[in-house]
Amino acid sequence: MQAVPIAFYDTKPYDREYFTRGAAETAVELRFHEFRLDASNAASASGSRAVCVFVNDRLDRECLKVLAGLGVELIALRCAGFNNADLEAARELGLAVVRVPAYSPHAVAEHAVTLLMALNRKIHRAFNRVRELNFSLGGLVGFDLHGKTVGIVGTGKIGRIAAQIFRGFGCEVVAYDPFPMDEWAASNQVRYVALDELLGKSDMISLHLPLTPETFHLIDAASIARMKPGVYLVNTSRGKLVDSAAVIHALKTRHLGGVALDVYEEEEGVFFEDHSATALQDDVLSRLLTFPNVLITSHQAFLTHEALTAIAAVTLDSIGRFSEGLEPVAERVLV
Ligand code: NAD
Repeated sequence: MQAVPIAFYDTKPYDREYFTRGAAETAVELRFHEFRLDASNAASASGSRAVCVFVNDRLDRECLKVLAGLGVELIALRCAGFNNADLEAARELGLAVVRVPAYSPHAVAEHAVTLLMALNRKIHRAFNRVRELNFSLGGLVGFDLHGKTVGIVGTGKIGRIAAQIFRGFGCEVVAYDPFPMDEWAASNQVRYVALDELLGKSDMISLHLPLTPETFHLIDAASIARMKPGVYLVNTSRGKLVDSAAVIHALKTRHLGGVALDVYEEEEGVFFEDHSATALQDDVLSRLLTFPNVLITSHQAFLTHEALTAIAAVTLDSIGRFSEGLEPVAERVLV
């Protein structure tokens, strides 16, 4: 059987490792690129039937036009979110687009809880102190999660798991989602409320909703003003859900008690890369990093063995089906 060439973009050693392992028994030829795909470099997909991209590759109309012109037929997103792809343009150009709708919602939900726990109990600060043989406890006071109220915004695959973990801690969980899952909520003692009520009631708020034009800067100065003073905010979803300037202001006034971010609105070109020997050009991110009550990870919530294995398996299966002319798995199809 003729090998199907696939051009991979924005690949890191772990992508190459898991995809190479996953493709061992398949008829695909993996062409790994380290750079991110955009219109200016899309010609590099020449000779490939499919391209496989991640969250920060830029699949705008211009880029898709180049890909379609080269004879690329399939765009395989190796992620769940698809805000970086112009689906309307893909449809017009006759390009098929698939994604991995769920690879391990546990990985992301567990990371959100990990961030919150670490931030609350000041683990990031304690770790540094102890390494310098400073065993003092001043400034490390946290709070019990038990009995506190957690607001889950978005009760899809990830939000529901996060809610259940918080229930396990003995938290009261309130949730907001325009499409509530009433049966699930009843069986997990989760209460759906209006977004305003969630903002006003919660001691901790965790975001688990997609980025769309309607949810852009859902958390801004106005919504922060409706939150309880001292509230902790966790965002493992998409950076642009949160107005970073408003967050900085609220951290300075102490309206926000702590902020944990796995995503950042201008993360493209910064996250996933080593900038330790260069000057960070982003002054907003630099300011965020100065707060002792801000904990940032570099979009790593998905990074577990189980998730990477599932991402490679599902993506390669979608590509295999496409190349063999088989019916795609409906839930993976975007276009
Ligand atoms: P999902 O599609 O299963 O659930 C999303 C939920 O959000 C749905 O129930 C939907 O009804 C709800 N929603 C939509 N608009 C809303 C609004 N305005 N307010 C409240 N809820 C709203 O998605 P998921 O798999 O649970 O993923 C959630 C988020 O996590 C996505 O943004 C995804 O991009 C992000 N994510 C991040 C990582 C990471 O590594 N940090 C990994 C995977 C997914």
